[in-house]
Amino acid sequence: MNDHLTYPGGKVRLYVEAQLTEGARVEASEGQAHYLLHVMRARTGSRVSLFNGTGGEWLASILESGRRECVLECERQTRQQQGTPDLWLCFAPIKKTPADYLAQKATELGVSALQPVFTRRTVVSRVNTGRLHANAIEAAEQSDRLTVPDVREPLPLEKLLASWPAGRQLMFCDETGEAPPIKEALAASSKSACAVLTGPEGGFDEVERERIRSQAFVTPVSLGPRILRADTAALAALSVCQALAGDWR
Ligand code: SAH
Repeated sequence: MNDHLTYPGGKVRLYVEAQLTEGARVEASEGQAHYLLHVMRARTGSRVSLFNGTGGEWLASILESGRRECVLECERQTRQQQGTPDLWLCFAPIKKTPADYLAQKATELGVSALQPVFTRRTVVSRVNTGRLHANAIEAAEQSDRLTVPDVREPLPLEKLLASWPAGRQLMFCDETGEAPPIKEALAASSKSACAVLTGPEGGFDEVERERIRSQAFVTPVSLGPRILRADTAALAALSVCQALAGDWR
């Protein structure tokens, strides 16, 4: 009898920061225990899937539980570890769309890292990266990923450019229209490590635009003739990257 816990979106999967090996005992977090015991009404013997970002996916069953705690035991590995394309999203957070939403959608789209960037016209003054990480974990669980994207502390644009890692192409989403279509830019790019950069509600100012374009690792790209909202632009660019050069085979 497959007593694997399921919910309307599919089987229950939990991200844990623990070693996953046969017979390993894993303590669920308080939040996870609450979810399992009081939302999913799981009992001893109920099965869930666990992943930790490096060890693939494991079938585990509830060994024992109390009111607020739950210990699971790993039974067997059900999926080999698999990553996602090495694709970062560097984004200026915007007021209207909470970064939480962007973190969820970008995780579903398979980003490997989320890098908030503060630019001159960014009106948002702080980003709650703890919440972003929690949203990324939830989206990774729901979207059947075996990794959770890296959620980085916000950086000012200048620092992002100054510390840019060698070997990674930055697709600069430039809404002025003076940029080749993203499809052309991706076809021309030889680098497997890639990143997308989108600006805030007011876009980039001229000084920033020149600064970004002057970097050897930057390729300006256009996302078509219409001005997209920053979150639309980020998700559209990520989708094109995955479709043309990522894992949407
Ligand atoms: N400057 C515009 C809005 C900027 S939209 C205004 O003030 O109305 C926010 C960000 O989305 C831009 O900085 C850019 O990174 C991205 N973006 C929006 N439309 C785009 C397009 N057609 N091509 C490339 N990037 C775009």
